[in-house]
Amino acid sequence: MIKALIFLLFILIIIALILGIDTFKRLRYIHLRNKQFPSDWTVIIERNVPLYKHLSESWRRRLYGHINVLLTQKTFKGCGGLQITNEIKLTIAAQAALLLLSEKGNYFSKLRLILVYPSAFIASQTTPFGEYYLEETQVKTGESWQIGIVVLSWQDIQYDAKHWQDGRNVVLHEFAHQLDQEGGSASGVPILEKRSDYVTWGRIFRKEYEQLCYEVERGMETVMDEYGATAPAEFFAVATETFFEKPFHMKRKHPELYNELKRYYKLDSVDWIEGAM
Ligand SMILES: [Zn+2]
Repeated sequence: MIKALIFLLFILIIIALILGIDTFKRLRYIHLRNKQFPSDWTVIIERNVPLYKHLSESWRRRLYGHINVLLTQKTFKGCGGLQITNEIKLTIAAQAALLLLSEKGNYFSKLRLILVYPSAFIASQTTPFGEYYLEETQVKTGESWQIGIVVLSWQDIQYDAKHWQDGRNVVLHEFAHQLDQEGGSASGVPILEKRSDYVTWGRIFRKEYEQLCYEVERGMETVMDEYGATAPAEFFAVATETFFEKPFHMKRKHPELYNELKRYYKLDSVDWIEGAM
């Protein structure tokens, strides 16, 4: 029996070496995507993320596949006394999976660990200030670290999922940072398909970011949350939230930005939702 297992392991290693680790990984993803999705999971998702009730069967099937991969590949850990449950994992993965519809197949490649606090948490940050360092503490609902960690507040995850269309969603925001951080530090430019895409992306995002900064400085009404004017990386994360939650507003007021995100996420967020929310 042991000899047979060792032989099987040996064969699997040989196959992995022949096909390449990436191919092996992709085959595993295909297997996970096609795995049966338990019906009690769909009940939890539709209750906690009402958007799902308005998606077509084919969209839902694709998303369930991505959720299966995320639940298997990522580690979830409760902090501040919170016990991780299936409900918490599903509510997070169901929203994060929306960003994966482009089928790039990387599944937030750097991300290993998702830490969840019961509510907003205190985070400390060290900022260089001349020859000194400033130690600041801030109350946060989410954070994304380049070393492959996302930190979230369970209370805010639930609130944001139920208040779709207000343009704010902590899961979309922090996981958009993870996409941005796949190519290095967060800069507001995720990995794009072609070299020429960077030119168009840079031109449109720079122009739109400067416009948001201008409008926020003057206290003007904006489609995107003013937090997007704090840095280009935040602009990309906030633009992602707006693209999914306020697509009509974004398409009307910022058509170029909308089209760029549509190309990136391979999704026309204006017409994928059936019926009124
Ligand atoms: Zn952010």
